[in-house]
Amino acid sequence: MHAELVIVGTELLLGDLVDTNAQFLARSLRDIGLDVLYKTTVGDNEALITEVINIALDRSDIVITSGGLGPTLDDVTRPAIAKATGRKLVYSAELERQIADRFRAFGRKMSENNRRQAYIPEGAIPLPNPAGTAPCFLSEDIGGRGIVIALPGVPRELQYTMDKKVIPILVERMGGARFTKVRILRTCAVGESNVDRAIGDLMVSENPAIGLAAHAGQTDIRITARGASEDEADARIASMEQEIRKRLGIAIYGTERETLPEVVGRLLTTKGLKLGIVDTLTNGQLAREMAEAGFEEVLSTSSSFPDVGAALRGLELGQPNPSDLEEPEEMLEKAASSVAPPSGLGLALLGPFHQNSTFVAISGPGNTKLCKPTRGYRDSNYSRRWIVVQGLDWVRRVILGELSSPAD
Ligand code: ATP
Repeated sequence: MHAELVIVGTELLLGDLVDTNAQFLARSLRDIGLDVLYKTTVGDNEALITEVINIALDRSDIVITSGGLGPTLDDVTRPAIAKATGRKLVYSAELERQIADRFRAFGRKMSENNRRQAYIPEGAIPLPNPAGTAPCFLSEDIGGRGIVIALPGVPRELQYTMDKKVIPILVERMGGARFTKVRILRTCAVGESNVDRAIGDLMVSENPAIGLAAHAGQTDIRITARGASEDEADARIASMEQEIRKRLGIAIYGTERETLPEVVGRLLTTKGLKLGIVDTLTNGQLAREMAEAGFEEVLSTSSSFPDVGAALRGLELGQPNPSDLEEPEEMLEKAASSVAPPSGLGLALLGPFHQNSTFVAISGPGNTKLCKPTRGYRDSNYSRRWIVVQGLDWVRRVILGELSSPAD
């Protein structure tokens, strides 16, 4: 069973109004585990609304409309739903009495126009809308394709009727709510295609479902699971998470909204380690990100230089000779050692060398010295972010005592 939204309002198509109703409806349906596969926005035109609802009924079991239930001539959702569901619009004295009562309760007199609102598709079930005057209703398609639920455009009224009247009806039709839970595992420095290679076969799973979202140097894995209870959805997530962790291991640095600078900052703080940095590649961005994450105090030094020559002079390591520039690993390890504080780690992000090559080196406790090439240098934010991720990831891996990942 799945649902479809039809959002009515010319204002929305003109860009005069932000469609908060669709967001609210989508979230409410997600919360009970009812999939929304389509959403259409259509202007206040009876023929077009009828067409859109007809298409929706052809492919969805439940169609929920928003707007166009008012008393004015351009409020045409009512006749459009009647046409699409193959029903006549019929007058309901009971509805008119309810509308008149509501006006009385608001201290106003019902106008002749409002009588129009007492017409609903034949056989439709009225859904009380105590928050406003526009009557809502549920109309069954005469051909058995599904149901259309008409809700008002005013957000407060739509939300009230959805929560209080529509959700219980839908949950009953579904034979009970289904809970949806989401878990995000965050990986870094492995690349989306490597993640895909490592867990691609799991992506055919529907419940839980897995999706990937790539950012510079990082790939998020989103696990979405459904269940008849929260515990059931959680259990599905837990077993999938265990399998993914088994395959990606150290490449997963965090979960949910955790960022890499935060994770590295916390690791350094917990272990009582400081970090010294020499950087010719990110314009000081790695140090800035650590500071912005609230971990400035873990940085012992942070020196950013315009090029490798300036960095070596600044660190008093002399001039590089041509072979150092051809194979710069040893030089980088020296640079990393020279910025490492007595109890802590030194990180060197140096380049560009020949053919725009760049290197990351780390010098750590127990005489750890490691150097590896990273992305080719480009003067772009994307490139800088990649190198920041590489640098932070190396610090993380050294602290955790692990430098290779199954997906590397
Ligand atoms: P009423 O009879 O109470 O006016 P209605 O069903 O005719 O209800 P509309 O005339 O379509 O509703 O919209 C009323 C107001 O509700 C709009 O002017 C707008 O401010 C707000 N509204 C309508 N649709 C949306 C939407 N999709 N998202 C956010 N606000 C909306």
